[in-house]
Amino acid sequence: MTFEESGLDSRLLQAIVELGYETPTPIQEQTLAKLLTQQIDVVGLAQTGTGKTAAFGLPMLHNLDSDEKTIQGLVLSPTRELGVQISKDLEKFGKHMKGLKVVAVYGGSSIDKQIKDIRSGANVVVATPGRLVDLIERRAIDLSNVKIAVLDEADEMLNMGFKEDLDFILDKTPKTKNTWLFSATMPQEVSRISKNYMNSPLELSAGKKNEGADTIEHKYYVVQARNRYLALKRVVDHNPDIFGIIFCRTRAETQEVADNLIKDGYSADALHGDLSQSQRDFVMKRFRSRTLQMLVATDVAARGIDVNDITHVINYNLPEETENYTHRSGRTGRAGKKGVSIAIVTGRDAGRIKDIERIINKKFTKHDVPNGKDVCEKQLLHLVTKLHTASVNEAEIEEFLPKAMAELADLSKEELVKRIVAEEFNRFLAYYQNSPDLNDSKGDAGNSRTTRFFLNLGEMDGLNRNSLKDLLMEVASVEARMLFNIEVKNAFSFFETETVLAEKFLAQNNEEVFFNDRKLSFEVSQKRSREGGSGGGGYKGGFSGGGSGRSSGGYKGNGGGYKGGESGGYKGRSEGGYKGREGSGTGYAGRKKSSEGSSFSKPKYSERSSSSKYSN
Ligand code: AMP
Repeated sequence: MTFEESGLDSRLLQAIVELGYETPTPIQEQTLAKLLTQQIDVVGLAQTGTGKTAAFGLPMLHNLDSDEKTIQGLVLSPTRELGVQISKDLEKFGKHMKGLKVVAVYGGSSIDKQIKDIRSGANVVVATPGRLVDLIERRAIDLSNVKIAVLDEADEMLNMGFKEDLDFILDKTPKTKNTWLFSATMPQEVSRISKNYMNSPLELSAGKKNEGADTIEHKYYVVQARNRYLALKRVVDHNPDIFGIIFCRTRAETQEVADNLIKDGYSADALHGDLSQSQRDFVMKRFRSRTLQMLVATDVAARGIDVNDITHVINYNLPEETENYTHRSGRTGRAGKKGVSIAIVTGRDAGRIKDIERIINKKFTKHDVPNGKDVCEKQLLHLVTKLHTASVNEAEIEEFLPKAMAELADLSKEELVKRIVAEEFNRFLAYYQNSPDLNDSKGDAGNSRTTRFFLNLGEMDGLNRNSLKDLLMEVASVEARMLFNIEVKNAFSFFETETVLAEKFLAQNNEEVFFNDRKLSFEVSQKRSREGGSGGGGYKGGFSGGGSGRSSGGYKGNGGGYKGGESGGYKGRSEGGYKGREGSGTGYAGRKKSSEGSSFSKPKYSERSSSSKYSN
């Protein structure tokens, strides 16, 4: 069936042609066939991305009279974001319906303004349940003329505790109205609503119950809980072009993961209910415009968000409600595009993957968390491709080229390529050198709870156990309880830390951190860690200029590289590109700043190391 054949009002037809909709999606085909002519209740199983807004929006607008200034259409939505999106879509569909007025009402915004809008002749109100109850109690809204009530994402409204509000609202609408309920999943509570408030509803489905889209690939990684964040970074680093949503279970965890990513130089921000509405709007604006590469969100805050072309959904944890996995993964793979949904799970959670497979009727594939070498390769390839496809603005750079050409004239093409790659790439290389295996299955270094480090400072440098501990705490921002088995030898020291913190220390190799004129150099000790023994060597030879962890000359070069990375970095980040991030480049840059500024610089430590605190 085409839109024309459905018999849809010509004004709506004109609008959807302008929107570029050519053929109805499966759920639209079903609603258009039934709801334009019959006055019936329906229960639609459809997730966002299936075109369900138009599936209920078009028949609703078709059935109402925009000349009559009463509220004939009511749409309930779980979140403000979704509500606003629906009202905008309805306005687009109804743009040729003269006099049509769609008003969105939701909490966190002036109720007086919303009351004014409703009174100025709304035909359709899109509301979050809490705010609508408030308006009803204030007698500020008249629902007695409602012909069609839509419950969108009904399962989510119930999840969010709107059960009583829904009962209250539905009781206030006329018995004669039709109710159209849409839900991505069909838990018992949704069935209860359909039984209590609907007359033998017709069941429509955009696919099998709860089933995920075919275009989504489902992968999972098994790690120890303490390695979850590191695994996330690996996954992200392994996907340089990621534009994704990272789902966390709680608001606090969402904020923590976002804060850590930002600190580590990634283009990420948090979206959750503890943020003010304007903060949420700001984050969403940046994400929609792709200024942000990654949105870290709670299930509730990210519900119904319609952002196209999301490449990855990452389940930082599996959702508490197994069925919510469908909602999460449905953010990607929209409109026929390919998407990847990744779950980072612990051994204990891995069993739940089977439950999810049953619900979505799709198989997951288990993957190894990319190791340092995988990430470096991927980044290198990305860099090379970027160089290859970079657009060159001839006119702009013309006047600078001769100088650059002259400067580089003595280098062969091979030399030049090597240097460009090394300049950009060394930071990544250094960061991932000696990086532990994060997979929770092999029982190697990554699996051991602690990692033992070698540091090139010892008694000769005036350090003892306590002063070294203080130094380590400050340099890597770790707590005292995370450092143990500290052994200070004459020219060097050993210490152990939680494996999860290992990369914090390795990252320092990349910085200009000095103590009494000696640049700090951390290495995973070969004594207890297999990877420490082989990992470094593996990369050293591969790319010239990579340098060993201990060669101060090598890192001086890197330091220079950072400066470039720092200024270029922020630019790159704000464009959502990976360039600026480059190896958590900006994150390090920040630390470099602090090292230049004060705490890790030589004078401060020299001074403090002789103080009583350090000689205890
Ligand atoms: P929804 O499931 O309502 O969130 O819609 C998902 C996306 O598909 C939105 O960006 C819609 O604009 C788009 N869309 C909906 N119906 C169609 C259609 N028939 N043809 C093309 N795009 C559509």
